[in-house]
Amino acid sequence: MKNIEIAVIPGDGIGKEVVPFGVKALELAAEIHGGLSFKMQEFPWSCEYYVEHGRMMPENGIDILKNFEAIFLGAVGLPKTVPDHVSLWGLLIAIRREMKQYINLRPVKQMRGVRSPLADPKGFDILVVRENAEGEYSPIGGRMIAGNDEIVVQNAVFTRSGTERAIRFAFEAAGKRDRKFVTSATKSNGIIHSMPFWDEVFGQVGREFPEIQQTSTHIDALSAFFVTKPQTLDVVVASNLFGDILTDLGAGIMGSIGIAPSANINPDRKYPSMFEPVHGSAPDIYGKGIANPVGQMWTAKMMLDFFGFEDVGQLLLDSIEDTMEAGIITPDLGGKASTTEVGEAILTKFKERG
Ligand code: ATP
Ligand code: MG
Repeated sequence: MKNIEIAVIPGDGIGKEVVPFGVKALELAAEIHGGLSFKMQEFPWSCEYYVEHGRMMPENGIDILKNFEAIFLGAVGLPKTVPDHVSLWGLLIAIRREMKQYINLRPVKQMRGVRSPLADPKGFDILVVRENAEGEYSPIGGRMIAGNDEIVVQNAVFTRSGTERAIRFAFEAAGKRDRKFVTSATKSNGIIHSMPFWDEVFGQVGREFPEIQQTSTHIDALSAFFVTKPQTLDVVVASNLFGDILTDLGAGIMGSIGIAPSANINPDRKYPSMFEPVHGSAPDIYGKGIANPVGQMWTAKMMLDFFGFEDVGQLLLDSIEDTMEAGIITPDLGGKASTTEVGEAILTKFKERG
């Protein structure tokens, strides 16, 4: 019997509406599997918490989280109350950095029952491996006054070890997939220090994986390929910023940001990994009961995969697709169903399949 301790952080906005369905999906997965159980503890860390305590989580928040094997997060952000950079750096980015979650995994896959905005999507199935700990999201830089002008410098920091481990993870992930093809997102024609270095490391690590087809593509052209020929891509490895933008584009071609999952992984397993959907707290629809729970529930499947329960994870994903194919979908996908109707329908299917 495997027992997994999980910290659950619903966060803000629709995070609080969709997390309960992710939690129920995990509990049901444990029931179906039989050899798996979860011990979950919920934490109210959020922008509301910030308003009361002046911080997004307690001072020892990171230490508390280190006692768990995984973190299941909804979304944080309430821009009218707390500036986005405060809520992001105060919780999400703090956790990613402190827990050395240096890989962000984001599948971009055409789903049964969802109309992709692409005219001819041809069944794309991409795994984006985003470097999650350094690169363009480094807090190094500053402002200065020069004469009567102002200069702002924002440094992007790439270490050899950080770049290597992200790229190696991508090759290893590709080795487990059918097509065995890695595309590296670069921009070495315009960004003349970090990106040629990225290319160099990609080439070096790539030589360890001769069985895997490999290519480097400029991020601008690659963005176009996501729209014009996504079916030609398999694993895509990208720096922090490039990966962030590509995966929102990926969520777009999937049909809604409300269905896209993600996992922030500490591959060494020294610290907990964190599982959260791609979407944010969506204050514009919070409280209406129409948030799509699919992103959060698919995120639960990614957690099951991470712990080696791929079989029951696949049943969950199949149940999600069955439900969407039956037309039980929220307004972001063109349907009329509520969060609860979609969530419950998926759980019912999951029970039937399990
Ligand atoms: P963040 O900065 O945290 O990514 P954001 O404001 O950029 O937040 P979201 O909160 O993801 O982005 O919202 C973007 C748009 O997508 C909004 O119009 C929102 O209503 C919609 N959206 C996001 N998630 C969902 C969902 N689960 N179901 C339905 N619509 C969603
Ligand atoms: Mg956003």
